[in-house]
Amino acid sequence: MSKRIAIFGSTGSIGTQALEVIAANPDKFSAEILTAHTNEDLLIAQALKFNPNIVVIVDEKKYQKVKDALANTHVKVFAGETSLDEVAGMDCYDLMLAGIVGYAGLKPTLRALDNGKPIALANKETLVVAGDIVMQKALEKKVPVIPVDSEHSAIFQCLIGEGRNKIEKIILTASGGPFLGKKPNFLVNVKRDHALQHPNWSMGAKISIDSATLMNKGLEMIEARWLFNLQPEQIQVVVHPQSIIHSMVQFEDGSIKAQMGLPDMKLPIQYALAFPQRIPNQFPRFDFKKISTLTFEEPDTKTFRNLSLAIDALYKGGNTPCVLNAANEIAVFAFLRNRIGFLDITEVIERTLNKVQYIANPTLEEYFDTDGEARNYAASLIQM
Ligand code: NAD
Ligand code: MG
Repeated sequence: MSKRIAIFGSTGSIGTQALEVIAANPDKFSAEILTAHTNEDLLIAQALKFNPNIVVIVDEKKYQKVKDALANTHVKVFAGETSLDEVAGMDCYDLMLAGIVGYAGLKPTLRALDNGKPIALANKETLVVAGDIVMQKALEKKVPVIPVDSEHSAIFQCLIGEGRNKIEKIILTASGGPFLGKKPNFLVNVKRDHALQHPNWSMGAKISIDSATLMNKGLEMIEARWLFNLQPEQIQVVVHPQSIIHSMVQFEDGSIKAQMGLPDMKLPIQYALAFPQRIPNQFPRFDFKKISTLTFEEPDTKTFRNLSLAIDALYKGGNTPCVLNAANEIAVFAFLRNRIGFLDITEVIERTLNKVQYIANPTLEEYFDTDGEARNYAASLIQM
């Protein structure tokens, strides 16, 4: 029996790579649900190729076009944001690949967990916003949350077979992004297109900017806290520009396990879809003779202040990471539209963090309210 996969965010970088994995393994996986925000042409092409049970186009203006294009198929077409939740609550799939970007991924993922469906989690913002509630629900429902983020997949793989052995710390590797070694006098003039060019990974626009500001690594520290039930002091970051070691776990005896490979998201995606099995593939292999040097250095948190803001939020907890995430989404969106400069991203986040009221143990509703308030405030700063 093949595993029926619901790909939330099928038109994105993660979603399209997941479909490549499914296409290469038709006996093991089928695409049961595909969802897209606005890219109806790609969604239609994917539906014609993969013949899913259901597609969702969030942008309701595109509904009729998708419906007409799939009129001669059995694909059911839904539209609108609430359809994402509705479809996540259905029984027709076995595993959700959470590949939506940003806060928009939170509600459908919670709904899938409520529905008892395992999650392959790419959408790190879900855990940054409400990691305590999300992981508690997974525990209650006894469903696994399998990381897709390469660093977390690495840690997950290093922990296999370790049972109750205690983790001393985890070491998240960071490539350093396109501006590694640069200083504020350079960053102040950075433009959108330059910031979008990542040296090792090809990704969606938002995570590419987060990688350039190092916010991505801060979000990943918070993601790791919840995925692996760690204290903030147990989470470290080291810059490793070659992106061959994807992350490491140091145990109580000082022994360190690392997971390695070429930087290719298809590997952690395939691992999460096939878990607990490993399945063969034709991806290029890492050759130690070709890359003979792996290097490591401290992250420059003085220059890349988004990372220090995220570390503060990790330690402060409560609704602070939710504020950080919301302000970052607004600021990155504005930067991508050339409305603010690269260093202004940090400014917007910092001012929003100082503005929104702290809540130590937020309910889900309070997280939603915090997100809305932080977004509105951050947006008001940009309009000035
Ligand atoms: P992307 O921008 O390429 O794709 C995002 C997908 O989400 C698209 O299918 C889009 O239609 C959908 N989407 C966007 N806004 C939406 C909304 N408001 N409502 C519903 N759907 C919406 O992003 P990506 O690079 O594929 O990243 C997806 C997630 O995976 C992010 O959380 C990112 O941090 C994480 N991630 C990505 C990579 C990578 O290599 N791309 C690596 C690790 C983690
Ligand atoms: Mg990552």
